[in-house]
Amino acid sequence: MGWGAVFQGLEKISGRFPRLGNCGEPKIIAGRVSTQATGLVFNIQKYSVSDGPGIRTTVFLKGCPLRCSWCHNPEGLAPQPELLVVENRCAACGACRLACPFGQALAGSGAWPVRQPECNLCGRCVEACPSGARQLVGHAMSAEAVMTEILKDKIFYDESGGGATFSGGEPLTQAAFVLALLQACKAHGIRTALDTCGFGCTEDLLALGRLADLVLFDVKLMDEARHRQHCGVPNAPILANLRALAEVHEQIWLRVPVIPGVNDDAANLAAIAQLAASLPRVRQVSLLPYHHTGLSKHARVGHKYAHADLKPPTDERMSAARDIFRGHGVDVKP
Ligand code: SF4
Ligand code: SF4
Repeated sequence: MGWGAVFQGLEKISGRFPRLGNCGEPKIIAGRVSTQATGLVFNIQKYSVSDGPGIRTTVFLKGCPLRCSWCHNPEGLAPQPELLVVENRCAACGACRLACPFGQALAGSGAWPVRQPECNLCGRCVEACPSGARQLVGHAMSAEAVMTEILKDKIFYDESGGGATFSGGEPLTQAAFVLALLQACKAHGIRTALDTCGFGCTEDLLALGRLADLVLFDVKLMDEARHRQHCGVPNAPILANLRALAEVHEQIWLRVPVIPGVNDDAANLAAIAQLAASLPRVRQVSLLPYHHTGLSKHARVGHKYAHADLKPPTDERMSAARDIFRGHGVDVKP
């Protein structure tokens, strides 16, 4: 399949084309971005200890070109705001229907524990809901507003060796915004990490990588067909981007989610270990065991979840996975 077909497939999933491969003139140029840049953020996580060294603030950017079947942040996939409904919190009071501009026009009465296709994201039902069952995710924020949040915890970064991490979703889908944030962090002496799936424009990745102190780079499946099957896109541009980044960046940590029955077979893990061993600037590999947190979130955004019965990997399985990496001379954490 050529890139045209890939783009068409992605357009169907995400409604927008990511920029891939050699994109020509980079869209983001350091001198042109400013703290007036605006992005779509779906969460700012304080006191994070799993997105790089020390205590960190992790900024989650909305929009991702991948569709990993086990995704634990499905509210970050769509590149626009969304209404989430937590059905088991609904008290069936009907306040949402009364508050909604089109609620009265629809047939029926009472509770609305589901999302409506007519929704224009006005947020009135969210304000009206007494039980917190409705939530809008994805807010436009200026880089200045995000920096205000990041700067609140600078003392913790300084004391712990932490900093700010830009994650998602996929930060490459909002590259100019992330560039502005990386520049602002640098100006304030805050160390930064970029957490990426690697699927995007090579020039954007290298431009962001030049500013980020650390790049956390996800690798899931080495087989092209299996990657398409489980992540919705080919892995060739991801691996090409990783190799391009490893030519120039000194601090890359690979992150490998371990998903039983999807990518935890010895052949796949050995292939990732070989890749890591072949890239001297990959400093460590983190193995991230599958967990259940995505399960309820998929229902909230109206997705069917393919792994409802999947159990996290056992300690023995994780230990065996670590041994595969150590067997290739790779520093593996935890
Ligand atoms: S966000 Fe606005 S349009 Fe959408 S369901 Fe709620 S009240 Fe109705
Ligand atoms: S306002 Fe909230 S609790 Fe009441 S029916 Fe709507 S979703 Fe349920």
